[in-house]
Amino acid sequence: MLIGRANGASALATEGAVMAGSGSHAVVLGAGMAGLLTARVLSEFYESVTVVERDVLPVNPSQRKGVPQGRHLHNFLSRGTQLIGELFPGILDEFAAAGAVVDDAGDLSRIYVRVAGYELAPAGRLADPAPLAAYQASRPFMEFHLRRRVAALPGVTILGNHEVIEPVISGDAVTGVRIINHTKGIADAVYGDLVVDATGRAARTRAYLDSHGFGPPTEDRVPPQCGYSSQLLYIAPGRIAERMAFVSQGNMAPGALLVAYEHDTWMLAVASPIECGTPPGSFTELIDAAGQILPAAMTAALRDASPIGGLAISRNTAAGWRRYDRAPRLPSGYLVLGDALCNLNPLHGQGMTMAALQAHALRECLRAGNTNLARRFYCAAAEHITPVWTMNEAADRRPSPNTPRTLRHRARARMQREALTAATHDIAVAERFLRVRGLIDPPARLQDRALLVRILLTNFRQQVATRLWSANFRCHRLRRATAECSGSGSGPGRAWPRAGSSARTMPT
Ligand SMILES: Cc1cc2nc3c(=O)[nH]c(=O)nc-3n(C[C@H](O)[C@H](O)[C@H](O)COP(=O)(O)OP(=O)(O)OC[C@H]3O[C@@H](n4cnc5c(N)ncnc54)[C@H](O)[C@@H]3O)c2cc1C
Repeated sequence: MLIGRANGASALATEGAVMAGSGSHAVVLGAGMAGLLTARVLSEFYESVTVVERDVLPVNPSQRKGVPQGRHLHNFLSRGTQLIGELFPGILDEFAAAGAVVDDAGDLSRIYVRVAGYELAPAGRLADPAPLAAYQASRPFMEFHLRRRVAALPGVTILGNHEVIEPVISGDAVTGVRIINHTKGIADAVYGDLVVDATGRAARTRAYLDSHGFGPPTEDRVPPQCGYSSQLLYIAPGRIAERMAFVSQGNMAPGALLVAYEHDTWMLAVASPIECGTPPGSFTELIDAAGQILPAAMTAALRDASPIGGLAISRNTAAGWRRYDRAPRLPSGYLVLGDALCNLNPLHGQGMTMAALQAHALRECLRAGNTNLARRFYCAAAEHITPVWTMNEAADRRPSPNTPRTLRHRARARMQREALTAATHDIAVAERFLRVRGLIDPPARLQDRALLVRILLTNFRQQVATRLWSANFRCHRLRRATAECSGSGSGPGRAWPRAGSSARTMPT
C-alpha cells in the first residue's frame, strides 16, 4: 500500500493511492526537536507537511523510547529559547503557565557558576537581561508543548507509530520515503517534494546515499570525552536559593550541573571525564560526587532530595559532523538536519539550540527559493556549526605532555585566566561570557579589543583594591596592638573589613 498526501488532502490516503508531486508537500522524518522545528518552518512554505515518527507519541509530557537522552539533563541555551519564542509566538508564556522555571530578570544571584575555580559572583543586574532569559523544564515537557503547537498548525500531520525504512529515489531526486505503519502492521510510502531527515544521531542517510551511488559524505569526529549520570529529583520548595548551578573543574576533573525544572523537580547531572573512571553508578554515588563539587548548602538539600525514576547513565558523548556541505553529489529534494547532520558533545548542552539554528537557516534558504536548496542549506548550517564545533574542540582538548606549549598557547591560557578573574568582579564581563555560552554572541566576541581592555583594567583595579585593603588591615592591626600596649584597645567585636571571597570567583 502507498500512502500519500497532497494539497492539504488527508495524510493517510486510501489504500493504493499515490502521492502526486504537486510542489506543495513536505515530509519530515522524526518528531524530535529538530523534526518539530523543521515542520514548523516548512509549514510556511508547503501547503502540507507530514511528520513521520516511529514512537507512539504520548498525550502528556512523558519519556519515550526514541529519545533515550530525554532522561538526562536538557536545557535550551539562550539563543535556542529566543528562536523557539520567535517560531511559536506565546510559547514561552505557555511554558511558564505550565510550570517551567522562568528566570528573566537578569539577577545573577539566581545562578551559581564556577569554572576552573573562578566563581561568577559580581553584584548587580545584567545590562540586557531579555536575550538571556531562561525557561527551564524537562525535555519531555519542552517536546510535549512544541509538539502540541506543531500538531495544531494548519496542514501539518504527525504520524506516530510509523517507522521510516528508507527514502524513495528517482533519478537524482528523493521523492518520498518507505515506511511501516506499526498500528496496522503494513508497509506504506509517503511522497513529497522535500524530505527532511531529522531522525537523530543514528540516522541512516549516509549509508543510504552510499548504496545509491552518491558516495557517503565524510565525517568529522571527536571521540567520547566523558560519561555522565543524571537523576531527576524532588526537592522541597525553598531548600535551594539558586535556580541553576554549573560547575566545571576543567576537562580532567568531574563537573556538575543542577537545574530547577517544573513542579519542584530538579535535574542533577555529574560528568566524569574518561580519565577519572566511570560516571556515578547509583543515586548514593551521584550525591556523594555532587557533594564534592557543589556548594555545601546545595549538597545538604540534595541529601534530603527524593529521586524520581532511575539514574540515567550516558557514555555516548562522541561528536560527529556529517559533512554534506562537502559532498560532491547530493540528491535533490532531500535534506538532513539536527543530530542527523551534526551531533555535538552533549556535555555542552547545545544540540537543541543547534537544531533551532538549522531550522532557522532552512527558513532563510527557503525564503530565497528552492533552487540549489541542499547546497545552500548545508553551507548556511555550516556557518552556525563551525564556530561552535571549533569552540567545543578547544574546550574538550586534553593537555598532551608530548606537545610543547607554544608562546601562543601560554598567552591564550593567561588571557583566559585574566578574563575569568575579571568576570568574578565585573558584571559586564560576566554578561559577555553568558552571551557567548548561550550562543547569543559568537565566540569571537570574547576577543573584542574593548573587552580585553576592560578585563585588564578590572583586574588592575581589583589588584590595587586588594593591596590597599591589605595595607589598611596591617595598619589597623598595628594600631590595635599599640593601643592594647597602652591600655586603650578598641575592644572585642570590632568589625573588620572583609577581604572578599577566598574562592576565586566564574563561567565558560
Ligand atoms: C545525554 C544527552 C544529554 C543532552 N543534553 C542536552 C542539553 O542539555 N541541551 C541541548 O540542547 N541538547 C542536549 N542534548 C542533545 C539533544 O538531545 C539533541 O541535540 C536533540 O535532541 C537533537 O534533536 P533531533 O531531533 O535531531 O534528534 P532526537 O531528538 O534524537 O529525535 C530523533 C527522532 O527521530 C525518531 N526516529 C528515529 N529513527 C526513526 C525512524 N526510522 N523512523 C521514524 N522516526 C525515527 C526518534 O524516535 C526521535 O523522535 C543531549 C544529548 C544527550 C545524548
